Amino acid sequence: MVTLGERELRHIRWREYSVVMQSAMNALNPVLTVEAQMRDALEAHSNMSKREMHARAKEVLRLVSIDPVHLHSYPHQLSGGMRQRAMIAMALLFTPELIIMDEPTSALDVVAQRSLMVQIKELQERLGFAVIFVTHDMSLVSHFSDRLLVMYAAQVAEFGKTRQVFEKPLHPYTQGLLEAFPSIRGEKVRLTGIPGAPPDLLRPPAGCRFAPRCPHAHERCTNAPPLFEVDGELVRCVLYEHEREAAVAQ
Ligand code: SF4
Repeated sequence: MVTLGERELRHIRWREYSVVMQSAMNALNPVLTVEAQMRDALEAHSNMSKREMHARAKEVLRLVSIDPVHLHSYPHQLSGGMRQRAMIAMALLFTPELIIMDEPTSALDVVAQRSLMVQIKELQERLGFAVIFVTHDMSLVSHFSDRLLVMYAAQVAEFGKTRQVFEKPLHPYTQGLLEAFPSIRGEKVRLTGIPGAPPDLLRPPAGCRFAPRCPHAHERCTNAPPLFEVDGELVRCVLYEHEREAAVAQ
């Protein structure tokens, strides 16, 4: 996609992939009704008539269990969960192949979070689109994702099947994250955080970006590590340098 020009990008934006922003209250335009906002997207990316646009807007609202009467509502007239679902309805206008969801549940209470996530899963099964969740919420990740990509300082630290990463985290950063996350099962254990702070990305450390905070850092870590393949997972850490270097984009 980075090689595509503006016209080509415009052709696939929203039609083939769309996005659900973190806070629906900020992402939706407060002075336009839900229908007007949907019409904006439909007009920009299709040649539908007014009647077709109205019908499609109704249809996608129904998909996310919102009564089409709310096409005439303004964002402040909807609850937090409805606003987030309205954003998802907008993202579904063209039934894209991929929807990027940035912290889709962060503004919701846990009950509304769960019902939204269950609904997203059902829609995925019904319509067949893929979702990339961008999130800090470990319980959301563990319940609702198939594969997990852990980022640190703008780089992939680890990538693998979600269950495998949770059961056997390879990268010291992933291990630190999971040790900072409470479990409701088993014995009570003291949670440990990761000391220090993420690096300044304008001047990242020369070697491994996690080195200043890593309990396993040693002299080999002054070289920037590539990704290594371990049991079908990818991990960026010299502790695995005896493994095969991954032949993928870094
Ligand atoms: S490369 Fe070194 S500093 Fe970086 S995560 Fe691995 S052990 Fe830690």
